Parts: sequence; C-alpha cells; structure tokens
Amino acid sequence: MVLVTNMCPACGHELTQKPRSRLTFAGLALLVAAAFLIFRPYVWLIAILMAAIAIYLLMWSILGKGKWCRRCKKFPVSKSLAG
Ligand SMILES: [Zn+2]
Repeated sequence: MVLVTNMCPACGHELTQKPRSRLTFAGLALLVAAAFLIFRPYVWLIAILMAAIAIYLLMWSILGKGKWCRRCKKFPVSKSLAG
C-alpha cells in the first residue's frame, strides 16, 4: 500500500506515497458530512473542524500528490504545479 517513490525536496528524506484516490475520497466524504452538520446547532464547531481536515486531505492529494515526508511530518507541495 505504501510505496517509496522519491525524495523530500526540503530534507532529502525518502517520501512515502498514499493512494491519492483514497485521500480525495476521504476529503470529499468529510466535506459532505461537514456540509450536513454546519447548519445544525451545537455541532457547527465539529463541522468546521471536519471541513478543515477535509481541505487538508484534498490539498494533500492535489498539491502534495499523496506524498508524505516522515521527517518533516508534512507533505511536500509539488513545484511542478506552481510553475
Ligand atoms: Zn522532508
């Protein structure tokens, strides 16, 4: 499931790759769930937290392409997307 593909641009550590489809699906599912909760009383704070996690997952999938650096504890943002 986890494949080593290339190196972290920040620290040179090996990157692990998560399935992007799974990240995107989890992000979208969380967004939909958050959308259902956001207009209900008492749980909107949970909805905002869920939406924040959802956006992070989607950014991880789109910008980070599912790659993860264990040393930096974050995903490296792809430079090819920026230009
Ligand atoms: Zn790194």
